[in-house]
Amino acid sequence: ARKAYTDANPLSRARYEAACAVMPGGNTRTVLFFEPFPLCIARGEGCRLWDADGHEYLDFLGEFTAGLFGHSHPAIARAVKDALDNGILLSGHNMVEARFAAAVCARFPSLEAVRFTNSGTEANVLALATAKVATGRSKVLVFDGAYHGSVLSFARGVLPINVPHAWVVGTYNDVAGTEALFDAHGDELAAVLVEPMLGSGGCVPAERAFLEMLRARTQRCGALLVLDEVMTSRLAPGGLQSELGIRPDLTTLGKYIGGGMSFGAFGGRRELMDRYDPRRTDALPHAGTFNNNVLTMNAGLAALELLTPETVRELSARGDALRTRLNRLCTEASVPMLFTGLGSLLTVHFTARPVRCGADAASGNAELKELFFFDMLTRGIYLARRGMMTLSLPNGNAECDALLVAVASFLEERRSLLL
Ligand code: PMP
Repeated sequence: ARKAYTDANPLSRARYEAACAVMPGGNTRTVLFFEPFPLCIARGEGCRLWDADGHEYLDFLGEFTAGLFGHSHPAIARAVKDALDNGILLSGHNMVEARFAAAVCARFPSLEAVRFTNSGTEANVLALATAKVATGRSKVLVFDGAYHGSVLSFARGVLPINVPHAWVVGTYNDVAGTEALFDAHGDELAAVLVEPMLGSGGCVPAERAFLEMLRARTQRCGALLVLDEVMTSRLAPGGLQSELGIRPDLTTLGKYIGGGMSFGAFGGRRELMDRYDPRRTDALPHAGTFNNNVLTMNAGLAALELLTPETVRELSARGDALRTRLNRLCTEASVPMLFTGLGSLLTVHFTARPVRCGADAASGNAELKELFFFDMLTRGIYLARRGMMTLSLPNGNAECDALLVAVASFLEERRSLLL
């Protein structure tokens, strides 16, 4: 599969090799790298992508959830153009940031107040800093396989270069094991930082009992519960937290909410967020040249207007239906392969066992996953090398059907390898 891929993509390869002269790995996003070399994407439109060699793909990656609106959505393009027409580096408070903040807070009820950043990574860094100051404690409980940003990664097999915190690392969905960690460290915990579904870690949903335990135990020991909804906030009109009935102390957001511009945000309980009020003598600092940049503020406002509760529910329903049909194909073929996730977020795993934590997600057959990835590219389906797929708004029923056809033919053609 790698040989066929190499032969089919000479121009992507040439670009990659040239880029390596000035960027280690030929890029600045580790997540995009795969052997033998990544594709160079030249252009996008709606839910389609074209690479440097002219191949066309259905985009089932959607920029790891940030591309929810599809490429060059007219309403967002208009908002960006409006911003450009009025100057984008205004050196001051501006006309849109408070409107955008109000839209974000209205959408996610646990956000009584919010502050913007440029990325989900920064949002999590600031949420943890807030928790440390608010509690006067130093430890942070996170979970194996979690991804909270480029300097906050608990992925397996990755050398951590995490920002310094006294990390306590638990096992996702392990209620008893995590309770033992609370028993041992509860008094010193500033926060528990958790994704309500491991996203990058393999689209592994949290079980309700696990999250309810985290809510109850953080309350009891005086630590903050920080829900990282950078990926999952798209899954229900008020975020996954509203669906689950879990009210965190702080929430972090990112990805699609900026309409495709650089975006991150953290918010939550008023009394915590008020620590950033500069009128206080003990105010926490939070600057950032681009935090209120009008491109993001304008695009984000347009984005949230597009995302009505009905649109959010429809997209989730389309994803659920797709996952069900994909899993039915796997079951009917009797192969050890399954698709996990919630709503419009899914990941393929080559295992017959249930996937409940980071270790389960990492234990699947890596060669088959690679084969699946290259086979899907050949069939015109673009997805993440790690097997993650997302639905964006323009990925409708016809595109979902095309994905199902591609997976069905993979199952048929590769049957002997899969069994
Ligand atoms: N948290 C989660 C759950 C994420 O999936 C990501 C990005 N994949 C981040 C945080 C970091 O966001 P960013 O890439 O914008 O820094």
